[in-house]
Amino acid sequence: MTTDLASLVKSLDLPAKVRLLTGASAFTLHPAPEIGLGELRFSDGPTGVRGLKFSGGRVVSLFPNATLLASSWDERVLREVGVLLAEEAMAQEIHVVLGPTINLHRTALGGRLFEAYSEDPLLTGKLAAAYVRGMQDNGIAACLKHLVANESETDRNTVDSVVDEATLRELYLLPFEIAAEAWSIMGAYNTVNGVPATEQHHVINEIVKDAWGYSGLVMSDWFATKSAAPAANGGLDLVMPGPEGPWGDALVADVRAGLVDESVIDDHLERLLLLAQRAGALGGERSWPSSLPLPDSPVRRKQLTRLAATGMTVLRNEGDVLPLARSARVALIGRHAVETIDMGGGSAQVNPPHQVSVATGLTALLGDQVTVVDGVDVRTRPVPARDGFLTDPLTGADGVRVTLLDASGSVLEERFCPQSKTMVGMDDDFPGTVASARLSGRVGVTGSVELGVLGVGDWTVSVTESDLSYSLHASGNGFGEEVLTPPLRTDRFDVAAGDLFTATVTLTMPMGLFGLIAFNTPRSTVDVIDDAVRAAADAEVAVVVVGLTEEQETESVDKSTLSLPGAQDALVEAVAGAARRTVVVVNAATPVLMPWLSRVDAVLWAGLPGQEGGHAVAAALLGDIEPAGRLVTTFPAADEAAPAWSVTPVDGKLPYAEGTFIGYRGHFAGRAPEPAFWLGHGLGYGKWEYSDVRLVTGDAPAVTATVKNVGRRPSREVVQVYLRPVEKDEPIRLVGWTSVKVAPGESARVTVQTDARLWRKWDADSSSWTRLSDGGEFLVARGLGDIRGVVS
Ligand code: BGC
Repeated sequence: MTTDLASLVKSLDLPAKVRLLTGASAFTLHPAPEIGLGELRFSDGPTGVRGLKFSGGRVVSLFPNATLLASSWDERVLREVGVLLAEEAMAQEIHVVLGPTINLHRTALGGRLFEAYSEDPLLTGKLAAAYVRGMQDNGIAACLKHLVANESETDRNTVDSVVDEATLRELYLLPFEIAAEAWSIMGAYNTVNGVPATEQHHVINEIVKDAWGYSGLVMSDWFATKSAAPAANGGLDLVMPGPEGPWGDALVADVRAGLVDESVIDDHLERLLLLAQRAGALGGERSWPSSLPLPDSPVRRKQLTRLAATGMTVLRNEGDVLPLARSARVALIGRHAVETIDMGGGSAQVNPPHQVSVATGLTALLGDQVTVVDGVDVRTRPVPARDGFLTDPLTGADGVRVTLLDASGSVLEERFCPQSKTMVGMDDDFPGTVASARLSGRVGVTGSVELGVLGVGDWTVSVTESDLSYSLHASGNGFGEEVLTPPLRTDRFDVAAGDLFTATVTLTMPMGLFGLIAFNTPRSTVDVIDDAVRAAADAEVAVVVVGLTEEQETESVDKSTLSLPGAQDALVEAVAGAARRTVVVVNAATPVLMPWLSRVDAVLWAGLPGQEGGHAVAAALLGDIEPAGRLVTTFPAADEAAPAWSVTPVDGKLPYAEGTFIGYRGHFAGRAPEPAFWLGHGLGYGKWEYSDVRLVTGDAPAVTATVKNVGRRPSREVVQVYLRPVEKDEPIRLVGWTSVKVAPGESARVTVQTDARLWRKWDADSSSWTRLSDGGEFLVARGLGDIRGVVS
């Protein structure tokens, strides 16, 4: 670190230094004009820069989710995403973007996998590094999260991930090490081997800062810091959010009591100043560009469509049913066709300008050749009122009006909420504290309707002549529940369009998400499936869009099964039985079970495709953009049929007992049954022959091969190289890949450079790195289910 920064630090007294080491608000830091430090501004997140507000903030671009981007297996794609996210940050004068998330897909039950890239550490690390580079080349700091062993959400604040040292270093720390050029890192909520991640002297100080020479800043996850001296001594530099927190006076006292050396504080602050310097908030505010593409500008829409479609992955394509013929008469079926899920839940959510459904996207290309049929229900919980159900009593716009009041009943703010829900207590900047909220909407339908509310508190609900009072409590499922999965209640009312529905909540917790719910009784599954079958039988091809929702793919909650929710499997089976051709589009970020797989013609995995999702799916189905993705995670064939499964701690501990054998590594070693699809699987629209596979020896060997596109369309091939080590107790591993675009009938000679870090072996006895033996076999594969060459 430069002396320059050190002398700035020295010019402050202890309390002034410590004050700077806790945030000033939810997403800002304290400025210190006396040393030229401006206000540093942070924003989530991995696939969209939400801004300084947790909810109800400005309209920003919603990118495809992380697994969809990663499925490109293309560092250029991730670099471009970094650049575009930097633009989104600059447009909002944000210095630090809280992403990428680089925890691994250890078990497919992890609720937050949609935010992270892959089960493979090399793929995750290299893609993350590209994203970081794209962002930081524009002077916007990236933040790698969450350090470390934070692969699931159950009891996330208390769970102790028990991971042996070799597994920690070879697997879970490797992406952080590869992408360590990021200017900041976020320490996780969980505990690792008995020590909270925010107090991990071993990980933060010994490995990240000392062994890797990391010069960046380590901040806590939000509200994750549990102590003063242990966290400060453990290497944590910054507590987030603020202004309250466990440091402040307590840390000053600990320094004065000799529990923390003042040089430790100085180092934390120097790192913070270095971050500020790198991101342009030290010694004068940076200049911010003024004309950047808006979230709904044609240029952004085109970029987001291309990025989403490129990662989409063709899992099955019998008889080349895909791409669809332009003349095809299509029955487009499924709740996800009309309400496509474009993002996961939690802190990665943003407020996009629009979310294009598959129905809109495909109809835009095929017009009235498309018949759209809604599908079966896919959620267990009602969602805040959808368009058409409630309107703002003041303006008539779809959504609800919310008035926030303080304890004396004075109005703090009145706001319109287009999504019929609002967040309170996270990043409010009112003149007082919110004590109650009044939510109101005019009912848009006539008849018997379910109306209700969402959120922790004491409620009075009033519809026409009826009044109801009740309290809703958090179920105690842990921190953040009042925001991420708040309790709800609905009751049936007979209403006429135009009736007023109001609900007042007195807050019983300082923070929460509050909303109004309104919906009609769902149609019976039998009727829905009957309609779908009729439409499928009439069409040339049925496209069924199935998937998960934010009930499964969200922060703070894990899944319990990989089965599709609701009666979606029955819907697919019924359609496949009636249609001439059936294509299934899977609108989910992570593995799902496909019991109908052998009875459908094609499967396109579409991830959570972002705001232009429907256009991207349509472009991929018709081949306007090749869905050239390859899976980033192995899809198990059944629940539990994976090398690591449970996410439920026992006595507070979650043993990573499978060691380095997660995902494809464990399946290949016979530790779990043959999967449905391997990491790396993806057919694209080309057909490939491999020849002349050769090994070029060296410290990290290279593998060369000739790939010929023997299909009828131009296509992009991802050539993957896996090492099967000499040591029989070591897992097979991805050691490199490259991609190449080839015209039909043409060949390309490719070189895959392997990565020397995959030969390292942590030796617990000597506490040092050793190296795997030279030799071993190199498998050139399109996923380990389709091996095209072996060299040794
Ligand atoms: C998440 C972080 C996120 C932070 C700020 C936490 O709940 O774990 O990933 O950056 O909130 O929103």
